[in-house]
Amino acid sequence: MPDYHPFEIYCAYHEAGHAVAQIYYFGRGLKAVTLPRFETNNPFEGYKARNIITLPGDFGRDAAGVERHLLVVLAGAAAADRWAVDNGVKISNRGDQNDRAWAAGLLWTACEAGVNIGNNSLPRLERRIAALFQRPKVWAAVVKTTEPLLELREIRGDVLTCHVKLELGRRLTEAEVALLAAAAGRAADRPR
Ligand SMILES: [Zn+2]
Repeated sequence: MPDYHPFEIYCAYHEAGHAVAQIYYFGRGLKAVTLPRFETNNPFEGYKARNIITLPGDFGRDAAGVERHLLVVLAGAAAADRWAVDNGVKISNRGDQNDRAWAAGLLWTACEAGVNIGNNSLPRLERRIAALFQRPKVWAAVVKTTEPLLELREIRGDVLTCHVKLELGRRLTEAEVALLAAAAGRAADRPR
């Protein structure tokens, strides 16, 4: 791997974690994943890695649906944390804190609406998503998402969805197989 700044790698794992969790729990809904260039002279201002995902908006009283939604929100910090622990790196990222605050707000709203998941379930869900990323196939999918994200900086959601599904051992639809073939064709045509 070329030399990337640890913060950049950390953020790439964060975004890859959201993407893989989204496909793991919902199977679709990924629009694009982007990772800005890292500016060493101004490292933390305006560094906004983004993950454009479309989670189902209205769960009604479906506690399992709310939990899956929360797990996707918490997945960025969990994946980045696994990478940091594996590599003995300590990084503080505002994005992780923002996601936790977002998750806490969602949980509060769901509990107010009478969804039965318990007000104190964030630590339990954080343990659950951390455990998911300990599973070899799931972690392989995160790593295989992070590498091209660092290199290309933007990955289309539909193409990425296919790659993640393959890593997770899920079956692709005929349309997804065709999409992957077309994407591979475009990559082969690219001048080097
Ligand atoms: Zn995030």
